Amino acid sequence: MKTHVRVAVIGGGVVGCSVLYHLTKAGWKDVVLVERDQLTSGSTWHAAGGFHTLNGDPNVAKLQGYTIGLYDEIEKISGQSCGLHRSGGLLLADTKERMEWLKMAHARARYLGLETELLTMPEAKALLPLLEERYFVGAMLDAADGNLDPYGTTHAYAKSARIGGAEVYLNTCVTGLERRGNGTWEVSTNKGSINAEHVVNAAGLWAREVGRMVGLELPVLAMEHMYLVTDDMPEVIEFNRERGHELPHAIDFKSEIYMRQEHHGIVLGTYERACVPWQPHVTPWDFGAQLLEPDLDRIAPSLELGFKHFPAMAKAGIKRVINGPFTFSPDGNPLVGPVQGLPGFWCACAVMAGFSQGGGVGLALSQWMVDGDPGFDVWAMDVARYGEWATRSYTNEKVRENYARRFSIRFPNEELPAARPQQTTALYDVMLAQGAVMGDSWGLETPLWFAPKGVEAKDVVSFRRSTDFPHIKAECLGVRSMVGLTEIANFAKYEIVGEGAEAYLAKLMTNRRPVTGRIVLTPMLNAKGKLIGDFTIACSAPERYLMWGSSQAQIHHMRWFEAHLPTDGSVRVHRFDLSLVGISIAGPRSRELLARLTDEDVSSKGFRFLDHRSMDVASCPAKVNRVSYTGDLGYEIWVAPEYQRRLYDRICAAGRDLGLIHFGMRALLCLRLEKNFPTWFRELRPIYGVFEAGLDRFVDLSKPDFIGRDAALAEKASGGKLRRITLAVDVLDADVLGDEPIWHQGKVIGWATSGGYGHCVDRSLAQGYVPASLAQDCRAGAFEVEILGERRAATILTEPPFDASGSRMRG
Ligand SMILES: Cc1cc2nc3c(=O)[nH]c(=O)nc-3n(C[C@H](O)[C@H](O)[C@H](O)COP(=O)(O)OP(=O)(O)OC[C@H]3O[C@@H](n4cnc5c(N)ncnc54)[C@H](O)[C@@H]3O)c2cc1C
Repeated sequence: MKTHVRVAVIGGGVVGCSVLYHLTKAGWKDVVLVERDQLTSGSTWHAAGGFHTLNGDPNVAKLQGYTIGLYDEIEKISGQSCGLHRSGGLLLADTKERMEWLKMAHARARYLGLETELLTMPEAKALLPLLEERYFVGAMLDAADGNLDPYGTTHAYAKSARIGGAEVYLNTCVTGLERRGNGTWEVSTNKGSINAEHVVNAAGLWAREVGRMVGLELPVLAMEHMYLVTDDMPEVIEFNRERGHELPHAIDFKSEIYMRQEHHGIVLGTYERACVPWQPHVTPWDFGAQLLEPDLDRIAPSLELGFKHFPAMAKAGIKRVINGPFTFSPDGNPLVGPVQGLPGFWCACAVMAGFSQGGGVGLALSQWMVDGDPGFDVWAMDVARYGEWATRSYTNEKVRENYARRFSIRFPNEELPAARPQQTTALYDVMLAQGAVMGDSWGLETPLWFAPKGVEAKDVVSFRRSTDFPHIKAECLGVRSMVGLTEIANFAKYEIVGEGAEAYLAKLMTNRRPVTGRIVLTPMLNAKGKLIGDFTIACSAPERYLMWGSSQAQIHHMRWFEAHLPTDGSVRVHRFDLSLVGISIAGPRSRELLARLTDEDVSSKGFRFLDHRSMDVASCPAKVNRVSYTGDLGYEIWVAPEYQRRLYDRICAAGRDLGLIHFGMRALLCLRLEKNFPTWFRELRPIYGVFEAGLDRFVDLSKPDFIGRDAALAEKASGGKLRRITLAVDVLDADVLGDEPIWHQGKVIGWATSGGYGHCVDRSLAQGYVPASLAQDCRAGAFEVEILGERRAATILTEPPFDASGSRMRG
């Protein structure tokens, strides 16, 4: 066994072996994998081996496509068969809503380059005669679906990695991890110790325990999962004989089952509602290649329905029932990447669909380790997407919710109830009393919209406009005509202090630094010039900056900030989290309202657009920014949490005769659409360049140096490949949500990133990306956006439809 290595991967399941293979492929040879027992001896050995591209996140769907395409490559390198059966798969819709969901998935597949086809039920029946047509309304065929041999595939990865120079140590259990003074990791095992520059936690069922070795409580939990295998069935034998090929896979969302052919029988698995976590506290180290006791009663409701939908199954004998554990994160996507505060410690865990996702996880992680960047947008599986609020019991509730809903539709306006409220501010109860419908924003309850008296404060879930539409309209009009109040505690807030703060920010950010008392908006880029952040920075005193950004990205951003801190201690970065909370007031009467709460000069000259000042507001020590995301005159007022209630009460009292209304996040997102303002995670993501995103005015190329400058210069010179556009869309009752394909002259050429209704300009609006060369085509109806299966005419708006000159927010 080597004693010094560049990387030690812990865990020889499909994920660890894929990481090992990809590291060798990326050119790192001095890499080893340490396995407690034999390869596959966690969840991997008893997996059903199915693979598919379906995922709620388009970037993860793309990675699943990559994984599936990889099997031929590792078979070829290793000479080891993966036991591939590329049979295709049917997704069966039982309701109109599910069919709409499939239409959306199909539309999205177009721009992801995935091969899907919508089918009528007679067409679906022709492909899968076992189904009973009358229970379904339509189907989608996913050509990439199939299944494989989990053992063979894991060994194919491992053999390919060995051929690439890696070593694999079996029966070697990692018992402890310690960080040395030089930043390397001491990996203790039952066979001695290995000093590694990097450690990868790919410990699957034991990922939580390996995390605990470094003081980390990862949000990951194993669930029991059952599938049964039938005896040979005459219907299957007959199908194979007649067609000369296997039956396609199928997912029946209604009965919550998936099925596929195995030999001449069927494998049938369920994601049952009455799901059961496995070892919620500690995974025993002596658990090996064992199975759990099956509990057919638990899955009986799914089986009963499934047997009705596939009558031949009811007659088939059951050869065996498998019940095994595998792990999930709270949202069901993997936990991948470097861990904030633990340099050199990487995660590749909570991979619930190892045979759809393992390849993509290995690719992302290896690129991240070797190049310092995953190479594409991995946000949906970044381990940094969870904060400290994702506790063990939070994880338990969310994982059970996610498992039970695996085959349920998640509507775009649907907020899931488990583990809520997790975090609340002092305004939670008063906001509820005002009729707030709350949403979960990075673990914090945040008002989405307000139901007027007499209206139930509840979302009616839909892919189309819902019952909140007229109330959001009233909120938007209230802001534009008078003044509105909204809670903004959910933003990320940081303080950057120290004698090196100015130079540090100059290096990280694209824009110039603000002078004392002023604010700048600035993107942040990676070395490849792609957008990895977008911030509002205020200079509160020399070498002291306050900064605001996306709440969801705060751990992700802290990881980046810490990685770039000077080693001499001249800069300190502090994340406030909820120790700084805020209320925003916006609208033409917001200045008058603020003036009633302070004796400072807040006139248009005394407190200008993009000014920042510490002042007393309603007798609370506050930091006030004159900024606007609504596109109207507006202020953000930031206070310590103990003042928030007082601030709120005084704003309400002072604003009563000014027509003050409450507005929520949904109105805010509509208002910003009217101004063409982009939003983080929709328009701004690490797949876009800063000029592609239209953020030119926030890039100061005269600065001698900042991360991503060379790439930004090259992008500016070439014009970039894509361009962010705003479209007015000719819709019926469904606005753009995001992830719809954009068509131009009969071809899919781009995708929408977000959309909604511009209530004050009375138009349905969308933003998205198209090739730069087409972004000049401003002819009416030159584009189409595919909404719920229908192509709707769309026209580029070259100027914001509301207050194009910006006089309202600057005045
Ligand atoms: C019944 C069932 C059916 C499934 N069906 C499918 C399917 O059809 N398709 C699909 O894609 N997925 C399926 N899965 C899920 C799939 O099994 C997992 O996604 C996959 O196995 C996860 O692989 P992994 O490498 O992350 O974890 P594991 O397979 O759990 O591997 C982790 C490895 O780490 C080792 N290890 C842990 N701690 C240490 C330590 N301290 N030192 C050294 N080694 C250590 C373990 O021994 C183990 O070998 C199914 C799972 C179950 C239970």
